[in-house]
Amino acid sequence: MNKPKMAAEKSASRVLMLLSQLERLNEDHKVSNNDAIRQITGKILHLLQTQEKTRKEVTSKGSGGMEVILSSLENAQDLQTTLNILAILNELLTVGGGRRTGVFVSKGGTAILLQMLVSSSKNPPANEELMLHIHTLLVKVGPKDRKFGVKSRLNGALNVTLNLVKHNLQNHKLLLPCLQVLRVYSSNLVNAVSLGKSGALEIMFEIIGPFSKKSTTLMKYVVSVLCVCSSGMNARRAVDRGYLPTLLSIYQDWHRHDTRHRHVVIRKSILACIKNLTNIKLGRKAFIDANGMRILYNTSTECLAVRTLDPLVNTSSLIMRKCFPKNRLPLPTIKSVFHHPLPHIAAGGPVAQLYNQPPGVDDVVDEIFSKDLLTPKPDESPLELDSISISKRPEGTADHDLVCSLGRLVVDAGVNGGSVDGLQDEGGEQAVLEVPDTAALLPLHDPDLYLEMVKSTRSVPAYTEVAYPDYFGHVALNLREPILERVYGVQRTKIFQDIERLIHSSDILDKVVYDLDNQSCPVIDNGESLKFNSKFESGNLRKAIQVRKFEYDLILNSDINSNHYHQWFYFEVSNMRPGVRYRFNIINCEKSNSQFNYGMQVLMYSVQDAINGSPHWVRTGSDICYYKNHFSRSSIAAGGQKGKSYFTLTFTVTFQHKDDVCYFAYHYPYTYSMLKMHLQKLSALRTAQIYYRQDDLCETLGGNSCPLLTITAMPESSSNDHISQFRSRPVVFLSARVHPGETNSSWVMKGTLEFLMSCSPQAQSLRESYIFKIIPMLNPDGVINGNHRCSLSGEDLNRQWQSPNAELHPTIYHAKSLLQYLRATGRTPLVFCDYHGHSRKKNVFMYGCSIKETVWQTNANTSTCDLQEDLGYRTLPKLLSQMAPVFSLSSCSFVVERSKEATARVVVWREIGVQRSYTMESTLCGCDQGKYKGLQIGTSELEEMGAQFCLALLRLRRYTSPLELQNHNSHLLDTENDLIDTRGIPNITSPTTYVLEEDEPAFLEEVDYSAESNDENDPDLEPDLQDNLALLDPSSDSEFSRQDSVN
Ligand SMILES: [Zn+2]
Repeated sequence: MNKPKMAAEKSASRVLMLLSQLERLNEDHKVSNNDAIRQITGKILHLLQTQEKTRKEVTSKGSGGMEVILSSLENAQDLQTTLNILAILNELLTVGGGRRTGVFVSKGGTAILLQMLVSSSKNPPANEELMLHIHTLLVKVGPKDRKFGVKSRLNGALNVTLNLVKHNLQNHKLLLPCLQVLRVYSSNLVNAVSLGKSGALEIMFEIIGPFSKKSTTLMKYVVSVLCVCSSGMNARRAVDRGYLPTLLSIYQDWHRHDTRHRHVVIRKSILACIKNLTNIKLGRKAFIDANGMRILYNTSTECLAVRTLDPLVNTSSLIMRKCFPKNRLPLPTIKSVFHHPLPHIAAGGPVAQLYNQPPGVDDVVDEIFSKDLLTPKPDESPLELDSISISKRPEGTADHDLVCSLGRLVVDAGVNGGSVDGLQDEGGEQAVLEVPDTAALLPLHDPDLYLEMVKSTRSVPAYTEVAYPDYFGHVALNLREPILERVYGVQRTKIFQDIERLIHSSDILDKVVYDLDNQSCPVIDNGESLKFNSKFESGNLRKAIQVRKFEYDLILNSDINSNHYHQWFYFEVSNMRPGVRYRFNIINCEKSNSQFNYGMQVLMYSVQDAINGSPHWVRTGSDICYYKNHFSRSSIAAGGQKGKSYFTLTFTVTFQHKDDVCYFAYHYPYTYSMLKMHLQKLSALRTAQIYYRQDDLCETLGGNSCPLLTITAMPESSSNDHISQFRSRPVVFLSARVHPGETNSSWVMKGTLEFLMSCSPQAQSLRESYIFKIIPMLNPDGVINGNHRCSLSGEDLNRQWQSPNAELHPTIYHAKSLLQYLRATGRTPLVFCDYHGHSRKKNVFMYGCSIKETVWQTNANTSTCDLQEDLGYRTLPKLLSQMAPVFSLSSCSFVVERSKEATARVVVWREIGVQRSYTMESTLCGCDQGKYKGLQIGTSELEEMGAQFCLALLRLRRYTSPLELQNHNSHLLDTENDLIDTRGIPNITSPTTYVLEEDEPAFLEEVDYSAESNDENDPDLEPDLQDNLALLDPSSDSEFSRQDSVN
């Protein structure tokens, strides 16, 4: 056993001996040495080919072997020596050559090879073996050399290789490595353009061909070179030459013949090239003209069953979506259907921008507004409060759905002229509504009181109808509603169904069944279409189009005096068939991603179920997903944001009952009339101990009152001590629902208010500790009119706090005035918290204000914010995370961004001087931590959160009591320090938790489905190419990228 080892060692040392001989000969530079050099290199090559261990010896650290070999290559005087050395290098870099290739590159080997390639091409015909060796080495070296693209271009190697390809089309032995090298060259975009100019595409299309078993390797390399089309110029060249139809038929051919899926790589590369060509407009047109939709649709549907072909299906789907003809939304204008005349229009405000646009700037022709057809006349007469009744509207159909048998709930408050017909049913008797008895379960709900409240609610469209769910009330479901697991491939399936609209256009009905823009929209009731309705408080649905028998496209209305913010929806559906799967698509969503991609469901309320004893909003819908669609929007329609397309939210529902009336909503509805009802019920809970007072903060633009509550404990007696304690209680200031679509914030507020009015000892103790000033709905008009984000001024009220306008933003103006008054009278609130809802994150969390954690350089005098004060803002979130199961401390952030400087939280912190100034965000979806992990959130969890917030305030009192602070009770301060100790608080001090947009921070989910969506900026590059691009020398290619991006 010892002998072979000895022999190996001997040979190893022999190779080193030969190397040092070679080194000496190199230094001599004598012509007479040439023979010796040739012999020695031959011997080294032989050793390397026969003794594997010698490879390690040659390249071992400190051996200097690679330097000697490279310098011999540079100095080689004859062909045989050169070939020997190239063969040596090929041996060294072949097996496990990763590190050795690195050494080769670091010693300047790439440049030597490229120079040799170029110089030997100057004396044609070039030696074939030499070219073969050089290219074989370049294939190995190129991907490891981050400067390879630049080096190859500067040395002039690109055209040498390309010419070799051109002249050796039949010589596969040389052709193959040359094609591989071209592929590596063109990873660099500048090179790709240069190769395109030199005719690379034309040559590739000479070689490329239909399926053939013999030429699969050749095809693999040829199609890989087509990646040069990732440059726009080359894509244009290819489209101009008419290569797109060629590629499509070649793709079809390989798809047909590659039945055992052995050549998926080739098929994938062809698709990648088609995808590149369709990045440009001409390419998309050529694709459509060449029947590309049908070809890719058919090939993809044949691939669907085989999971390993998913990359082909996904790329095909991406191409088809990109080429799907772009449409405008089928609307007369994207401006809101409803318009509210403003007292004055701020010159630079969104409404002025909206209505001062030159004609043609709107996405669609704007005739309706000029005629002012849909603007309801402001009602000047006082409401006739006692004319309210539940009435029944004749439906005039033989089809007896619930709306027919029960009648629509119509409140006649004289707003629409009092002309409501059909107060009686067919039998001539007053309609009797079976109202579910929820009095025991919903102490704050009373249907009659609700109708009473509706009478004084003033909406822009002058609604008279009442939605059943709001009338009956919602009892929280006593069932777990898990966050849905996403079905594999659901988005793809939906997209294919969308594409089928083009492929099988004869199946498409395109029947408008509901249209707010055309109130007389003829609904041909043949019993085959669903009926829609959204004409009630907080309702939002603009248009419904029956696309196929059981599929509807739905369009949401913009916020009033605006042309976007489509997100909130609330509408009624009837005339359904039970047991049938209906697909609904809301086609004008705007956010680029949504919790609907992460397990959130829509909410549905069945009136039949309610009457049968289950008055619940229930999470419902299957096959839910959210993706970019083919409806385009202008940047004006996007409120100046980028983004050319709308998004579709799709969900599928099977109705249980015949003759039902069902309602769908984005989240649990909570109307303004409901708030008024709750407040009336709450005020009735007042006891001798409770001080409860309701004022009107102000009147809104729409003529509704904005309630302001004051809640505290009555002084124990009229003694001076008690009165003085009463007066010295710190103020806690709370608000909610500045954003109308965030109904969850109202449910949290309801929980807070119910707790504050309860008779528990803790509630009493809390009332004795603080004076609560509460504005439960900062944007009543937005809520009433079904807006998602804005008030009637068309503005986001939570961006107006810096300088609110008394006329345009009355609730903000008066809320801020009240805070300023409190501060001026020495009653600066201890805590300010504005309740919000969050559409893209899970759990409940808070945003606070911290100088320390803020990148924004404030003008605030930092000396007023010593460390102790600075950390006080952490106590409340920390307490909440200990007490409230839905609350997540790790999602909290305390950074103040400049873009947030006009929000309530920041203005109250900076201008009013409230250290503990927060936004509290509640998820619309569910929880991924705590007791409710994996569940969607419901109203009981939201209300519980509101109550827990109160309990946390009670505990906060211990750390903030003025008496104890006055005594400098160091023990207590230590306790607070313990509490706000940041250890164990993940992320809280991390600079990565910057909030980019208060309500929509960066999407932090683990899976990003947007990769599946039709993103034209999506780099259409394979991973290795991307890697190479990432390594591009930015200085050398920056000019190029500017030129080439002109698509
Ligand atoms: Zn909000």
